Amino acid sequence: MTTHELWQAVLGELELSLSKANFTTWFRNTFIASQAGTEVCIGVPNAFTKAWLEKKYHRDILNCLQNLTNHTVRVISYRVEARVPAPSMAVPVAAAQEPAYVAAPAQDAAAPVIHANQPQSGEFTLNGKYVFGTFIVGKQNELAHAASQAVAAQPGGVYNPLFIYGGVGLGKTHLIQAVGNELVRKNPNLNVLYVTCERFTNDYISSVRSGQMKQFKDRYRQVDLLLIDDIQFLKGKDGTQEEFFHTFNQLYQSNKQIVITSDRPPKAIPELEQRLISRFECGMMADVGSPDFETRVAILEAKCREKNYALDREILHHVASVVQTNVRELEGALNKLIAFHQFKNIPPTVESVKPILTSFSPNTNKKTLTPRQVIATVAGYFDLNVDDLLGKSREKRLAFPRQIVMYLLREEMKSSYPSIGMELGGRDHTTAMHAYDKICTCLNEDEKLQHDIELIKQKLYAL
Ligand code: ADP
Ligand code: MG
Repeated sequence: MTTHELWQAVLGELELSLSKANFTTWFRNTFIASQAGTEVCIGVPNAFTKAWLEKKYHRDILNCLQNLTNHTVRVISYRVEARVPAPSMAVPVAAAQEPAYVAAPAQDAAAPVIHANQPQSGEFTLNGKYVFGTFIVGKQNELAHAASQAVAAQPGGVYNPLFIYGGVGLGKTHLIQAVGNELVRKNPNLNVLYVTCERFTNDYISSVRSGQMKQFKDRYRQVDLLLIDDIQFLKGKDGTQEEFFHTFNQLYQSNKQIVITSDRPPKAIPELEQRLISRFECGMMADVGSPDFETRVAILEAKCREKNYALDREILHHVASVVQTNVRELEGALNKLIAFHQFKNIPPTVESVKPILTSFSPNTNKKTLTPRQVIATVAGYFDLNVDDLLGKSREKRLAFPRQIVMYLLREEMKSSYPSIGMELGGRDHTTAMHAYDKICTCLNEDEKLQHDIELIKQKLYAL
C-alpha cells in the first residue's frame, strides 16, 4: 500500500465517525508527508489544523493507522506543509462545486489502460447504438438524461458520481453508455471503461486467485471514466466492495468521472456498506421511471424510423396502450410485430397486431400470478427468507415486507382478506385488512415505498 492509499484508507475510516462538516474542515488537504519506520508525519495545510488534529483527533488517527498497518505505525507527528492541489479528500464534500483538483497522484506509467475504441472483450465494450441521439426523453427520465448529458459535457465536475437508478428495461444501460460514447466521440484517446458490476466482481475474484491484483488495480484505477452497470450486484460481496471503495476513491480524488446504475437507490441495496452508500449519495442521483403513454408512442415512432418500418398512428397507439411495463418490452413487441408481418408478407392492421401482443398485456400476466410468486418475489427483493417472512416474528424488517405481500395479493390478485391471511402463515383476515390499509396510506407520502413496490411489480410481471 502506498502512503497515499494508506491515508485514503484512514480518511475513509475517520469519515465514518465524524460529521461531514468536521471531516471536511479538519481533513481537507491533509496527506502523509513522510513515513519512516514506525513514524508517520502528516502534512496539514495550516497551524490551526495542526493544533486541532493534535488535540482532538490524534487518538483516532493513530488508531486507524495502527489498524491499517498491523501496528507498524507507533508515532505520529504533524507538519504544516501546503500541497496544492492536494488530492487528499476521501469524500465528495457538499462543496463539490469548488474548483476541481487538477493533479492526480503519480501513476505507474507502464500500466496498461483500456481504450474504449480499441477492440475489447464483450463486457468491456461500449455499444455504439446507445447514444443520446436515439434516447427519447420523457417526464420520467428527463432528470437522468439531463444529468448524463451534463456529465458528458463536463466529466469529473459537479455531478460526480452520477447514480442512475430504476427498474429493468428503462434505459439505464442506454444512458450510461451514451455518456461513454459521447466522451469517446469528443476525445478518442480517452480511457473509458464500461463494465457490469458482475464482471467487476468476477475480475476481482480471479485477480485475487491468480495473484494479479496489480494488473487489476491498473485496469480500474487508471481510467478517465468508469461506467459501472448494475451495482446492486455488489450486495453482500465484502471483498469486492472493499476493492470498489478504493477504486472509487482513487478515481474520485483524481477528478475522474464515475457513473453508476442500479435497479434501486443506494440505501435500498441490502448488504451494501454504509461508506459506499454515502459516497454514492454524495454526487447526483437520478431515477428513471416507466414511460407514460406519450413517451411510449414517441419511442415506438423513433424505433420504427430506425428500422425504416412504417406503422399507422392507430397501431402505434394500440401497441403503446397494451405494452406498459418498460421500453425493452416495447421494443420486443415491435420487433415481434414487424417479424410476423414481414414473414406473412401482409400489412399490419390493428386486428392483425392484437394476437401478437397478448403476451405483453398486463391483464393476461395478472391472471398467471400465484400467491407463492408474490411471496417469493417480495422475499427476494428484501433479501429475506420465505419462511421468516411467513413466520411469527414481528420484527420490523419482516413485518413491513409481510404487509407489502398482503397489499400486493389484494391489489394485484384481488384475493380475499381471509385467503390472504391463510397464505401468510394462517393469519387473521383483520391483519390482512390492516396491512392493506396501512400500505395504501404509506404509499401516498412515501416515495421510496412507491419505488419499491413499482420494482417488485416489475419483477413479478417479468417472471
Ligand atoms: P436497463 O439498463 O434500464 O435495464 P436498457 O438501457 O437496457 O434498460 O434499455 C432497454 C432497451 O430499451 C434498450 O434497447 C434501450 O435502447 C431502449 N430504451 C430504453 N429507454 C429508452 C428511451 N428513453 N429511448 C429510446 N430507447 C430506450
Ligand atoms: Mg441495464
